[in-house]
Amino acid sequence: RVKARGRDGIALHVPEEQVVAVDHLRLLGELRRGIQEGQLRLHYQPLVHLDGRASTAVEALVRWQHPERGLLPPGVFIEAAERSGLVHALGRWVLDAALAQVAVWDRTEGLGRVQVSVNLSTRQLTDPSLPADVGTALRRHGVDPGQLVLEVTETALMVDPDAARTTLLALRELGVGIAVDDFGTGYASLTYLQQFPVDELKIDRSFVAGLGRSDADDAIVASCVQLAHGLGLSAVAEGVEGAGQLEALRRLGCDYVQGYHLGRPMPPEDLVAWVADRAGLLQRLGASPAPAP
Ligand code: C2E
Ligand code: MG
Ligand code: MG
Ligand code: MG
Repeated sequence: RVKARGRDGIALHVPEEQVVAVDHLRLLGELRRGIQEGQLRLHYQPLVHLDGRASTAVEALVRWQHPERGLLPPGVFIEAAERSGLVHALGRWVLDAALAQVAVWDRTEGLGRVQVSVNLSTRQLTDPSLPADVGTALRRHGVDPGQLVLEVTETALMVDPDAARTTLLALRELGVGIAVDDFGTGYASLTYLQQFPVDELKIDRSFVAGLGRSDADDAIVASCVQLAHGLGLSAVAEGVEGAGQLEALRRLGCDYVQGYHLGRPMPPEDLVAWVADRAGLLQRLGASPAPAP
């Protein structure tokens, strides 16, 4: 039980579940309005190929510019949105905003073709109309399907594996890429994994964090990279925060890295400057920049 302030300042005893339930309802009401009123934002975090190639890939990460509470991370509202079904509206907004942004970047000087990864919720993955909606959104913005990757978690795949497989096959048919996010933290058996049309495994940052410090994490990350390559998929390491982890990942043959060490999630207008700082990136990658001509 927690103490809540009564109207006239008298402390009342209210069961904690009730306080949580009221907060939850208020959050959902505010989020519904927030989506309608344009309070959602996308930040973009770069994915970097370890061979230093210059192509640009980013992951779209949703934020909520709350009128009183400021910029909120998805951890505060995604789960509530998922449980309430509001995540359908949120997911549609995210997909549309990310593709609109890619279309803008395609016309921006100094940026080549940008590939964007978008996170899908469990409910979106089991929604039979998802592939058609994705196709419509791609056409609306004139974005090539090869520029879109959809990220699904292992856990989401396992809620209804048959439905997930049907949806993913239809998405693959469109030419969209599929990534398994937070790989290693869910319960997908390897048998299942090879039945899903997947292009990329994103190794969860909880394992990447221990690289070079924990033999167990070294072994887990090494097996994930091997598994990815054995199945013909790319391996991406999430949450790379330092040069030591990067070195270990290079040794293990990981393909892509993502994390604060390479670049934080940023508002879209900052991407041009991030891409332009090629020398800075190569330095963080531990490669020496090409000598000036
Ligand atoms: P995720 O898809 O695994 O995204 C990676 C998260 O790790 C992001 O948190 C990112 O900011 C954070 N991160 C990146 N590099 C580092 C690092 O070096 N160190 C640490 N400690 N963290 C790092 P964020 O933006 O708070 O998103 C959290 C989760 O919310 C995402 O995890 C994803 O599952 C979910 N999410 C984000 N955007 C969306 C969305 O548009 N739709 C849905 N359904 N889920 C989303
Ligand atoms: Mg993700
Ligand atoms: Mg992840
Ligand atoms: Mg995650």
